[in-house]
Amino acid sequence: MARYRCVPIDEAVAERFRRDARDDFGNPLRRVEASSANGFPCRRCLHCAEPGEAMLLGSYDLGRPRGIYWAPSPIFLHARSCRGFAAEDVLAPIIRANTLVSVRAYDAGDLCLYDLGHVCAGAEVDAPLMRALADPRTAFVNVHTARPGCLLARVERVVSA
Ligand SMILES: [Zn+2]
Repeated sequence: MARYRCVPIDEAVAERFRRDARDDFGNPLRRVEASSANGFPCRRCLHCAEPGEAMLLGSYDLGRPRGIYWAPSPIFLHARSCRGFAAEDVLAPIIRANTLVSVRAYDAGDLCLYDLGHVCAGAEVDAPLMRALADPRTAFVNVHTARPGCLLARVERVVSA
């Protein structure tokens, strides 16, 4: 099985959002209160907000893919500072908790590998995610919410030294 890590947004991006109250495209961040257990996934700690927690909503400039398949994504972020997710071979809780996710694999040239794409419940994502990571063409995988299409996390192989 390929070793992997779920990659959160950079700390610098999270801190800039919180400090400037603007997203990557200059929009004012929306401040919202989480009103359900699984509906407010933070892209920094990769945990779902607890109901009542203050969250920020803004548009995020995905690092990759670049080129033809590039797209920005709406993201939630804890309004308070939170610790970036940093575990290996552990699926991000926000992916596991989502009712319908989209697995999107990309090659080293940032082109989408359509045959590795898959839509399923987050709780059942392990097999299609491992299939995508095991494919030698895959450079990285982005997991999105399947209905609105928002990025949940990038997933990369862990390359042992
Ligand atoms: Zn968080």
